[in-house]
Amino acid sequence: MVPDRLTQLLDRIESSRDELIQLTLDLLAIPTINPPGDHYRAICEFLQTRLLASGFEVKLLRATGAIGDTERFPRWNLVARHEGRNRGDCVHFNSHTDVVAVGQGWTVDPFVGQVQQGRIYGRGACDMKGGLAASIIAAEAFLALFPDYSGSVEISGTADEETGGFGGVAWLAEQGYFDPSRVQHVIIPEPLNKDRICLGHRGVWWAEIETFGHIAHGSMPFLGDCAVRHMGAVMQEFEAVLFPALHKRITEHPVVPDGARHSTMNINSIHGGLDEDVPDYTGMPSALVPDRCRMVIDRRFLVEESLEQVRAEVHRVLQGLQLTRDGFRYDVKELFSVLPSATDKSSPIVTAVADAIEAQMGRAAEYVLSPGTYDQKHIDRIGRLNNCIAYGPGILDLAHQPDEYVDIQDMLDATKVMARTLVGLLTTHNSFEVTSE
Ligand SMILES: [Zn+2]
Repeated sequence: MVPDRLTQLLDRIESSRDELIQLTLDLLAIPTINPPGDHYRAICEFLQTRLLASGFEVKLLRATGAIGDTERFPRWNLVARHEGRNRGDCVHFNSHTDVVAVGQGWTVDPFVGQVQQGRIYGRGACDMKGGLAASIIAAEAFLALFPDYSGSVEISGTADEETGGFGGVAWLAEQGYFDPSRVQHVIIPEPLNKDRICLGHRGVWWAEIETFGHIAHGSMPFLGDCAVRHMGAVMQEFEAVLFPALHKRITEHPVVPDGARHSTMNINSIHGGLDEDVPDYTGMPSALVPDRCRMVIDRRFLVEESLEQVRAEVHRVLQGLQLTRDGFRYDVKELFSVLPSATDKSSPIVTAVADAIEAQMGRAAEYVLSPGTYDQKHIDRIGRLNNCIAYGPGILDLAHQPDEYVDIQDMLDATKVMARTLVGLLTTHNSFEVTSE
């Protein structure tokens, strides 16, 4: 008996194990470190060659004018599209091509990539060249077995996710590439584990708080006004009031890890007084009362909190000090903000991937939200496309670490889930039935 097409699809993916490994190694060998954003053109050209050969129409797009785009470090992106035989939805796989700096502590060459004990090691193996490779193999296998499908399949390789995505997905979204009239479903193969669907992420508010004083001789501080002591008062209020209040707030959403279900704030930096590192100066500091102190805060907030509330409670602390503390003057500069994003569990992309996970893995999908943001924010806010999730192989905790790796079996399983999702969304074939030889 001839196996049905779904069985053939899964068999094809299983037998493309070596190809999946090689594709991942080829991607790892292009050191797309960001910052500064190296080799974006090279990785786009590599993907272009591959995807043209599999029948995609390919565009290489430079994010001219975006933050970070320069002649020396141009922000190149790739968008590949394959049209089906009939009209229907477009399923888009979006992967960022950049990786973070290598850092210390590696036992393998991060850009040669090593295959050991069923794992591929290298910078970007899990975040997220393994996921990119999986989505390519999944799409190619699907196109080969279901050439009569309805709709279209897109694959993008985008720049700068690690530095905010402005020269990548944000720019493409501004150009209309994520308009719901041309793309209906988006999967971002970030490493969230092969049986988990990431529905979205918490919000972010970055701000710089500045306190002011009055400069004077350090031997007579009573003649000046110390901006650092004013900032100390801000810290004290944060410790006494704000941090405990944030910790008490717990989201209903399944944010992982557990600690991130609370509202959080990081003090990113504090600086007051003379510059610490003046090049070529080896002498002693001079005696001065600092007249400025700056603190950068990184506030991560929950779906249940509003940006207005997040801003207001920091302003309330500062306004309170202005009323109670002599000479307290301050300024707050907002650096940037991202609203929380949470795709509804009943959205078509969520139910399609959940069904595919259950059929492939034999267990129900787990739903999570990410503590930090990723490119979904731009697809959601700029593209106005809410039917977007992150789903991909790899363990999130390994991202950005030395000896980062992705498990090959996880990649194969995730590839099959992605392919089943395409079958589910773009054909009338039931991708969830028990397959038989
Ligand atoms: Zn990533």
